[in-house]
Amino acid sequence: MKRTTEGIIREKAFSSRDEYEKVISDSVKKAALERRVVKDIVSEIGHASQDWSRDLGRIAETELQDAFEYGKAIALYEEAGEGKKYYKTPFPGACRHCITLYLTRGVGSEPILFTYQELLENGTNIGRKTKDWKAVLGTVHPFCRCPLHVKHKETDEWDEKLQMYVPKEKEKSAGQIKIAVGDKILVV
Ligand SMILES: [Zn+2]
Repeated sequence: MKRTTEGIIREKAFSSRDEYEKVISDSVKKAALERRVVKDIVSEIGHASQDWSRDLGRIAETELQDAFEYGKAIALYEEAGEGKKYYKTPFPGACRHCITLYLTRGVGSEPILFTYQELLENGTNIGRKTKDWKAVLGTVHPFCRCPLHVKHKETDEWDEKLQMYVPKEKEKSAGQIKIAVGDKILVV
């Protein structure tokens, strides 16, 4: 007899789908942290939830991608150090949610800057309704691959053509010396 997710939730006396998904989520995060292979993770979910039904693969895929994006975010944060701003650059074909959540004025425009803490505190969108999705460190939605970046210097400026933050014009000519003559500034 084929077991359904709903059947398992009843049978295993999970009080709700939320609790059931939390069991899955906890299993994956634990396994991901321990750097276990995908096969082990799926097996872990199956044992924790006693659910071997069809959508296990999809849930595992979403959770894994989320855990993967988190892993990258942590690495970026550790490298960049304190006090930096972070942003995501949704691909031109990204969904409207990612475009609204991460960009100031639609496709190609300057990204919205966040602190690492803000994105971290927004948690994960897994299990949230579409209207409640937030800008997060992980994936906004299943199959979201919008990459996270760090703005290295406060003075860096958004280059719309390059789609990245570049050093301010003044900073580029760091080798030049400015001399004030009267009310004029000479660059030597
Ligand atoms: Zn996305």
